[in-house]
Amino acid sequence: MKILVTGGAGYIGSHAVRALIEAGREVVVLDDLSTGFREAVHPDAKFYNMDIHDGEALDKLFRAEDIAGVIHFAAFSQVGESMKKPLKYYDNNLSGTLSLIKAMVRNGVKYIVFSSTAATYGEPERVPILESDRTQPTNCYGETKLAIEKMMKWTGGAHDLHYVALRYFNACGAHPSGEIGEAHDPETHLIPLILQVPLGKREAISVFGDDYPTKDGTCIRDYIHVCDLSDAHILALDYLMDGGGSDVFNLGNGEGFTVKEVIETARRVTGHPIPAEMCPRRAGDPAQLVASSEKARSILGWKPRYNDLETIIQTAWDWHRNHPNGY
Ligand code: UDP
Repeated sequence: MKILVTGGAGYIGSHAVRALIEAGREVVVLDDLSTGFREAVHPDAKFYNMDIHDGEALDKLFRAEDIAGVIHFAAFSQVGESMKKPLKYYDNNLSGTLSLIKAMVRNGVKYIVFSSTAATYGEPERVPILESDRTQPTNCYGETKLAIEKMMKWTGGAHDLHYVALRYFNACGAHPSGEIGEAHDPETHLIPLILQVPLGKREAISVFGDDYPTKDGTCIRDYIHVCDLSDAHILALDYLMDGGGSDVFNLGNGEGFTVKEVIETARRVTGHPIPAEMCPRRAGDPAQLVASSEKARSILGWKPRYNDLETIIQTAWDWHRNHPNGY
């Protein structure tokens, strides 16, 4: 029995594929390479270059491979772009997933682990955030992910489909082997942008807002290592296959760091002064996002291995230093 990983050529997907293979699973990767990289796909995974909208191709894949479950990463994930091009996000994320789930139902594939996001919460009512807290996305990206969670819930009530949605907080870091890591074009995420300064690709890091109601005025986020996210996907799939009920779990370290603290840590890791310039707030940024991941710890038995920001940034730095232009 094989595991299908959609978006397995992307940042988090490629790390999950590697973890699955290291755990002795047979893996099939589906990716249209619109944002992913063929080089990021583990050589032991079978690769299909295709689009999840293509129902006939999905039927063929499900018939040709003995797929026991799906881990679904394939999606667009840039918050800013989702505000300018909402239909692109509805089309790829929501309608693409609709096509995938229809094919799963048609072909009797019962288990799906879905890549969701803390952006489903919007501005939190309190931190740390619990899965039962209000979900009111402040951007289109989060809205499409929440719509998919709901689609899976209603579909699971009517068909033999079981899901786990994993709401990631701030994914970061790279595989300790240094062979795979974060590569986005354009890059919009804080840690890789900071590391562009010591790489000589950027003069300074822009800090988006220093007038938030936090200890130093900059936004607080919960940074979670990509390999810890990978572990959670395998645990979630095993949980479903062992008869666990459909559910939603937060994945974070439970500790928040301000933008200034992240920059300071990167200065220590790289030994570079990394100049920072204060800029206006970025639209749609909540002041604080910190997860309670107690539910994933107690039900899935998840235990993040990287709980130290310096080590997390060190793994990112090792990757970027050796791959300054990505793959
Ligand atoms: N951020 C920043 N400068 C940048 C990129 C991001 O100050 O060049 C801030 C951003 O406003 C947020 C935090 O860093 O408070 C994390 O942003 P990122 O885009 O990495 O992740 P998000 O929290 O949006 O998922």
